[in-house]
This record gives sequence, C-alpha cells and structure tokens, in this order.
Amino acid sequence: MNPTVIDFGPGVLGALQRYADPGEVDVFLTHLHADHCLDLPGLLVWRRYHPTPPVGRAIVRGPSDAALRIGNASAEIGGECDDWSDVIDMQQWAEGEQIEFGPGHTVVARRMYHPPESYGLRITTKSGRTFVYTGDTAMCDAVQELAQGADVLMSEASWTHDPANRPPGIHLSGTEAGQIAARAGVKELLLTHIPPWTSREDVIAEAKAEFTGPVHAVAPGESFDI
Ligand SMILES: [Zn+2]
Ligand SMILES: [Zn+2]
Repeated sequence: MNPTVIDFGPGVLGALQRYADPGEVDVFLTHLHADHCLDLPGLLVWRRYHPTPPVGRAIVRGPSDAALRIGNASAEIGGECDDWSDVIDMQQWAEGEQIEFGPGHTVVARRMYHPPESYGLRITTKSGRTFVYTGDTAMCDAVQELAQGADVLMSEASWTHDPANRPPGIHLSGTEAGQIAARAGVKELLLTHIPPWTSREDVIAEAKAEFTGPVHAVAPGESFDI
C-alpha cells in the first residue's frame, strides 16, 4: 500500500522525506494553482532518475489538465510538454464518483468554487471515519454537502470576514469555515491555508464564534489521527 499525499506544493518533496520514501507515494491534487502542485516535477525526477528506481508507477489523481500543466512545468524547453507517463499513472477526478485507495479507504471528489478546476475531497477510512479537505474554495453548496457529518473537516480559511478584502469565488474566511463546520455537524475543525499576511488569531477567533467544537489552525510538522 502506498501512502497518499494530498497536494504537492513547493516544499513538500523535502518535508515528505521525513515521513515516507517519495518513490512510494501516490498523490491527490485538488487543483493546479502553483502552491498546490509545483513540487511534482521534482517527484518526476526522483522516480525517473533514482539509481534504484521505484517499482511501478505512482498514481497521481487530479484535474483534467494535470498531465499537460505539470508536463509544461517539467519540460526542458519553454512551450514543450514532458511526457511523464513513464513514471506516473495520471488519473482524473470524476465528480461524485467513489474511488477506492489504500487498504480499504475511499475518496469522493466534489467540484469547488475556485477559479481553476478544483476539488474538495471526502475520505472515508476502512474503519468508517471521515476526513474532509476543502482544498481551495469559496462558500458553495458543494463544500457544505461534502463536509456533512465529517469526523474531521480540514478547511481552508484564507481571509478574515471583511467584505472589503474578499473578492467572490476564491476563498473562505474563518467565519465561513466555522459556519460550514457548524451546519455540517462535524466533530472537529482544522484550519489551513492561512497566508502570512492574514492574522491566524483573527481567523481562529472567527471560526470559534461560529462553531462550538474543537478548532485548531494546523502548522507544519503536526500530525493527527483520524
Ligand atoms: Zn488555489
Ligand atoms: Zn492555494
């Protein structure tokens, strides 16, 4: 069974080596903004040129244009596309389809409200626990439905709830993350994707004002049992 990494932005390939052999991981990509995928060309190099090549190909599941976009990023000449099918088995998300992975887990992807083709993921473990990750999204019915009754909701919260700073259709505020958690009746809320120029304390306080369950803003290196 290969471990699965959700999103693969800059810095992930380095940090990953503390937890798993990069030659043995599969990848789920929520979308193809650079902060979610641009260490993948490094994973191609790892798998293609490692003196002891990994057995088989890694599964990378993502948006419909992932092979083209990551192929562009990996090409040696501008405008060309690296064919990565020698080391990667690229698969596309299908909205609402239940996909099995690992030892008895399932994942369902729903299209989110964010500029590129973006998905939120609902993972159900073999033991029946549910983990929902919003990826990047603004408030929408799909993210609310995806989160319904989850044991753990990991939600992006990129902004404070100030209308002057929130263009529509891009991200959630701490208030909105808390509202989703409360309406969905989740057991625990983890906040992520808070940029350095946004106050973590304000985002956490906004979420706590809406959701009475446990709220925590995640930090690099933390681990959680689902
Ligand atoms: Zn994004
Ligand atoms: Zn992002």
